[in-house]
Amino acid sequence: MSDQYTFDDQQDQIAMKEAWERALERLATSVPETSMKKFLKPLKCGSVEENSVSLIAPGKFVYEWVKDKYLDRIQEALSDEAGRELHINLLVQDREKPSAGVKPISVIQTAQPQPANPRFVPKESYTFDNFVVGQSNRLAFAGAKAVAQAPGAKYNPLFIYGYSGLGKTHLMHAIANEIMQREPGYPVMYVTAQQFAEDFVQSLKNNRIDQFRRLLRGSRVLLIDDIQFIAGKDRTQEEIFHTFNYLYQSGRQVVLCSDRPPRDLLLMEERLRSRFESGLVADVQMPDTETRCAIILKRAERESLGIDHDTAMYLAESINGNVRILEGALTKVAAQASLEGAPLTIDLARGVVESYYESIAVAKPSFNQILNAVSKHYQIDITDIKGLSRKAPIAHARHVSVYMTREILGDSWKHIGALFGDRDHTSMMHAYKKIRSMMNRDKELNASLKMLMHDLWPGS
Ligand code: ADP
Ligand code: MG
Repeated sequence: MSDQYTFDDQQDQIAMKEAWERALERLATSVPETSMKKFLKPLKCGSVEENSVSLIAPGKFVYEWVKDKYLDRIQEALSDEAGRELHINLLVQDREKPSAGVKPISVIQTAQPQPANPRFVPKESYTFDNFVVGQSNRLAFAGAKAVAQAPGAKYNPLFIYGYSGLGKTHLMHAIANEIMQREPGYPVMYVTAQQFAEDFVQSLKNNRIDQFRRLLRGSRVLLIDDIQFIAGKDRTQEEIFHTFNYLYQSGRQVVLCSDRPPRDLLLMEERLRSRFESGLVADVQMPDTETRCAIILKRAERESLGIDHDTAMYLAESINGNVRILEGALTKVAAQASLEGAPLTIDLARGVVESYYESIAVAKPSFNQILNAVSKHYQIDITDIKGLSRKAPIAHARHVSVYMTREILGDSWKHIGALFGDRDHTSMMHAYKKIRSMMNRDKELNASLKMLMHDLWPGS
């Protein structure tokens, strides 16, 4: 690294590079592999300022794609991983003079001013007040609220699960916000499971494991986000297990979030899973239309966007997808209104939605995308899903894949049999029926599959 950097700068650069690596891992859970390879992985971390970071695209083409399709998600993921709200300066590598670096093309400004304190600062807007409660998240909200009011007293641990973009991280930050407001300096720690894993490995390497442990065990509330990421990482699980026990036995509060219920964390040790289940396990589901409408109205009020009830309702009804997508739609509609200098009417909203969102919604996912999604969800290799093993978890993932293929592609049983490697059409039909009838009995499976389906195909 050139000598114009100070030691601190270098540390910042290194930390940001690591955060970017983690952000990529996180993005890989929602971005198709080919797009990851083509557009996101080629981005390189450039200079780091306190509240901004530049990402450098290798060429104009990648730049344009990223700018149009991924910038919001990148901003979100990287801010999460870096632990502070960041602007992303998306730049293009200057081809003529590669050594001269980069030229700025656009700057996104979304950050709020950051306090100087480098410790965990919960996102200011992620409060209980800003969280809209509905049937879909009532229990998770109540659990989080109880934890904030009396940490360690009632639900310990609190385990919140549900698909991406449904408010889990929001609730964790809300717990921190409420406690810190009541008692500034209260030791609340927030860590993503990826961060935990990396810090752990790093501290082992550097002989600083004692320091690592002291830091975590010094907290009175420990919030661990996206715990599914440590599935299959044995030593990290072991460490989390001990951290958990230590805190739990001394009456400290632990809160965990995951994209799936404990029992679906297949590569997680049984003793960890049963620890996770020993307190309150609460889910967040896709909000119903009324709640979605309320979320839009609340958000609009906060940002002083004049939107009437009917328009909000229109968005709530026509935008499929999680709350993050819903919020994105509101932002787009508001941007369009300000661009046109026109009021935010239902007609304007309709125009934006029709030209933008419906084109996305109608694109059916391919068979491979279905397999990919199921493989990721159940953490089972595609070759196994398509293979012959009758082991229960593998067979289940296979049956789910058959179910989704039929629901989404609507192909004939014979054709589906062929897709799965020349299988008999009756066995495909049985797999489908099996999942159908399981869904009727099993609320969790039903919810999981609905979300899986929705994520994959917002138009469904
Ligand atoms: P997750 O951690 O489940 O992926 P987040 O907590 O990051 O989801 O939420 C995504 C976005 O949706 C955030 O901006 C959050 O504030 C918003 N959001 C989610 N649920 C609600 C809700 N019930 N009320 C208000 N905002 C919500
Ligand atoms: Mg989250």
